[in-house]
Amino acid sequence: MKKFRSLSALLAVTTGCALLLSACGRSAEGGSESKDEKDPTVGIAMPTKSSERWIADGRNMTASLEKAGFSTILSYGEDDPDQQVAQIENMITQGVDALVVAAINGEALSNVLRQAADARIPVISYDRLILGSPHVDYYASFDNEKVGELQAAYIVEKLGLRTGAKKGPFNIELFAGSNDDNNTRYFFDGAMKVLKPYLDSGRLVVRSGQTRLNQVTTLRWDGGTAQKRMDDLLTSAYATARVDAVLSPYDGISIGVLSALRSDDYGSAAKPLPIVTGQDAEVASVKSIIAGRQTQTVYKDTRALARVAAGMVSAVLAGERPETNDDTTYHNGEKVVPALLLDPVSVDKSNYRKVLVDSGYIDAEALR
Ligand code: BGC
Repeated sequence: MKKFRSLSALLAVTTGCALLLSACGRSAEGGSESKDEKDPTVGIAMPTKSSERWIADGRNMTASLEKAGFSTILSYGEDDPDQQVAQIENMITQGVDALVVAAINGEALSNVLRQAADARIPVISYDRLILGSPHVDYYASFDNEKVGELQAAYIVEKLGLRTGAKKGPFNIELFAGSNDDNNTRYFFDGAMKVLKPYLDSGRLVVRSGQTRLNQVTTLRWDGGTAQKRMDDLLTSAYATARVDAVLSPYDGISIGVLSALRSDDYGSAAKPLPIVTGQDAEVASVKSIIAGRQTQTVYKDTRALARVAAGMVSAVLAGERPETNDDTTYHNGEKVVPALLLDPVSVDKSNYRKVLVDSGYIDAEALR
């Protein structure tokens, strides 16, 4: 029999555990009752192992939940939405008490979340908002629009446009994330809000003409796809001109873009690399920043995100309302999902040591 399917069952347990599930976990560890009988279980569905950040997210979520006294089941959908649905179905069958889901396709989970709701399993949407379902209880993420703002503001600043130190015009190309990830449009809108005045005045020029979101997305955030698009852009729009900046929403895409640029002889004194942004502070990209190739990334402390999501699970299962700081922005088509948003931080060569190494997010050894 599964636990916590009704509020009364939950209250009976939480009362016995001084209202804190973590206390239950500790008593189970104490050995008086078997782990199976005591620990509520949380299913964690992550999107892919192809990116370092999600591997860290899975590890951090597991650690945070286990510390709070939960057992966990962790799955990776390998960027295949159907596989992720099957994994979540499997977790429901196994009788998890709560689900934490970082969706691959934000719109593909409506049916499986209905099954979760029928089984009274609360759902926390992790990092990416799940769309089109009323059965999403809370959302833990970062200020996604600010991510895009930070990337674009970095470009504006480094090109000297903000102070007017340099007038331009400068050539920029735009990349966005996967069109089935709700975050994509927040990143892009945030960036375009900052870039628009310069695009309107002609001080920034997109020579390819590809400025609409549906022209610049990168399915599944794939670096190879981005590399191919950058190759095509360089051939079609830059035979006689140089690109000065590339808005890239994610480090894996930045690495692809940089490969295309370097194949086209960018990176020499005569033809310097453009400013290339990124996101996630992945080790390969931080090394690239140190080596003077990628210019910037956006750091999101996934350890903190995991703590927030684990706290939401604890609160919801204890019948409490988790802390949120944005109860208006994230409408998923069915409801506004109350969110707790953390702050992203812009990182480049000047501050990576302080922000990433001193905070323990990246081991200095890994950057050698
Ligand atoms: C996340 C980013 C990540 C991207 C690709 C987005 O949903 O918010 O941090 O770079 O997915 O994995």
